[in-house]
Amino acid sequence: MTSMRKISHHPKSETLADFAAGRLDEARAVVIATHISICEECRTAVADFEALGGICLETTEPEPMAENALADFWARAGEQDPLKPASTIVAANDFDLAKARPLAAYLPTSLESLNWRTVAPGVSQHVLDAEGYRSGVLRLLKISPGTQLPKHTHSDEELTLILRGAYRDEIGEFRAGDLADLDEDTLHTPTAIGEEDCICLIATNGPLVFKDLFGRLAQPFVGL
Ligand SMILES: [Zn+2]
Repeated sequence: MTSMRKISHHPKSETLADFAAGRLDEARAVVIATHISICEECRTAVADFEALGGICLETTEPEPMAENALADFWARAGEQDPLKPASTIVAANDFDLAKARPLAAYLPTSLESLNWRTVAPGVSQHVLDAEGYRSGVLRLLKISPGTQLPKHTHSDEELTLILRGAYRDEIGEFRAGDLADLDEDTLHTPTAIGEEDCICLIATNGPLVFKDLFGRLAQPFVGL
């Protein structure tokens, strides 16, 4: 239980179904697992999908496991000591990262002490080690208040979980706990709002595609 406000943006049902069936790569699984660790609504949905999957497995020939894409994830997530003290990995907005265990397993230290690398004015990132289509598909992005990211779409899919602060884009306002589940058709221009840095956990399985001159120029620096 957390005392945080109600979450207003959730993953798509298809994404939760893919998660329940083990079809997401490690990077995206971490983002979804972290969201459901604080979102009862999505946790229930995943449990339902898992139950459905169990029924299907009983009645059909099981497919061979595609790849053991989640092996690392579950190895690390499962290794955690449930009695480990909450330590210092606590963010603002009542988002308790220590309770978001899947993510805590990937963080070497608190958000404050991470080795943030500046990639553009007002934007810094920290890449987390997770298997995906290519290296660096799981990252933390820190955006200063008022900073706008270049307008972009996604070559495939992007999952963004807000850990701290908030941003606003064409879709709406996203705050700690909210998850943006975007596909290649979504064009958006997120701007960090509020008083504090907006810190997001982002999984991509393809490069972002920027749509204007600034974006094309910024892409090599941002490395997104
Ligand atoms: Zn949810």
